Amino acid sequence: MRYLISILVLFVLLHFPALAEAQSPVPAPATQISTPAAQAEDTPVPVPPPTEKALRHYETGHLLWWFRTLWELALPAVILFTGLSAKLRDFSRRLGRSWFFALGIYFVLLALLMYGANWPLDYYQGFIRPHAYGLSNQTFAKWFGDSLKELAVISVLGVLFLWLPYLLLKKSPRRWWLYAGLATIPIYFFIQLIRPVVFEPLFNKFTPVENKVLETKILALAERAGIHGSRVYEVKKSVDTKTVNAYVTGFLGTKRIVLWDTMINQLDERELLFVMGHEMGHYVLGHVVKGILVLSALSLLAFYGIHRAATWLLPRAGKRLGFDQLSDIASLPLIMLLLGIISLVLTPVGFAYSRHLEHEADRFGLEITHYNHSAATGFVRLQDTNLGIPRPGFLYILMRSTHPSIGDRIDFFNQYKPWAHGEPSKYESYFAPEPTTNTTIPADRPVH
Ligand SMILES: [Zn+2]
Repeated sequence: MRYLISILVLFVLLHFPALAEAQSPVPAPATQISTPAAQAEDTPVPVPPPTEKALRHYETGHLLWWFRTLWELALPAVILFTGLSAKLRDFSRRLGRSWFFALGIYFVLLALLMYGANWPLDYYQGFIRPHAYGLSNQTFAKWFGDSLKELAVISVLGVLFLWLPYLLLKKSPRRWWLYAGLATIPIYFFIQLIRPVVFEPLFNKFTPVENKVLETKILALAERAGIHGSRVYEVKKSVDTKTVNAYVTGFLGTKRIVLWDTMINQLDERELLFVMGHEMGHYVLGHVVKGILVLSALSLLAFYGIHRAATWLLPRAGKRLGFDQLSDIASLPLIMLLLGIISLVLTPVGFAYSRHLEHEADRFGLEITHYNHSAATGFVRLQDTNLGIPRPGFLYILMRSTHPSIGDRIDFFNQYKPWAHGEPSKYESYFAPEPTTNTTIPADRPVH
């Protein structure tokens, strides 16, 4: 489940930036909303080397990633091969009586068991480590409360949706993977539709952008990108973290751009507007929909892999496991184990696609703002704040990077300016005509 959730999170949210944990060695400046002095947006920005602390964070983080990856394979394997899963199933059947309730009870018990088993690692990774690196503002109560809410959300989602693949497994043991793969499309869209109005407010407070001068400029940029209505929100993430981030979430009527308050506090106005231009790229270019469709395709492939592997394995190991059909709810840890193994192959594919979308959003952001220099200085600050590494190793990029490296992004910001050579911009057809008054877009926008 954790794999499923983490892939879902990484894919569907298209978070910006990739680096999840961050800190500000630079003193956080007061919100800079005044228009900065005119800068030469065509001045290139060198990629700074990583700090020693960032390198340490990267290297220990990599060891932790390996440990977590192996742990998440080992845990379901232990639950499975000790026969614990079969025992949990027997207990759930006695308690739940009907097929549906037995399924729900089994899932909640398994989720509780895994929550407990994962707790020390989650506590270290989610609380101890970010504090040790000075990346976190979170109190223990907030961290613990959030972890319990996550457990509740996972349990509710499991009870709501898990019956579907198991019913398909029962009714169509040979084709279930196809139907379940197709069913992920409406399910992922449904989750994406309700996540900004149901799930996300459980964890943080969302408001319109509080700085009204900044909001006016962001909304003017949004109008130019063809995004109407106040679709930009601010979230109080400063209670959790010192890192900076922004993202696009929701679907149809709930679609929106969310800006962390930490980012408003740390970037200057042009840097922020570039980031907003990037997020607007995700919004306008339909990246949420594309991400979900690719995720569904990968889910279908994963289900097929599970089907083939289980068809081979169950006749051989069924006695030991305490079940011989995949449609038995006791098979859930087996499905998680196989999904974990298959994810090792499918994750690089999904992440490569994600990096492509991120690159296109960067292009969109540059084309709509022409803030090349500010985009680059924003990312220099971001590397510093988030303890980033400008050019991570091959394995990191392959397995963990949903975004291009900061070094590659700054290189792109330094060189991509087709308008300077009289060449057409790729996405200019998306932009509304330039406003003629200075009440909308920042008045100091460079002439092109
Ligand atoms: Zn992005």
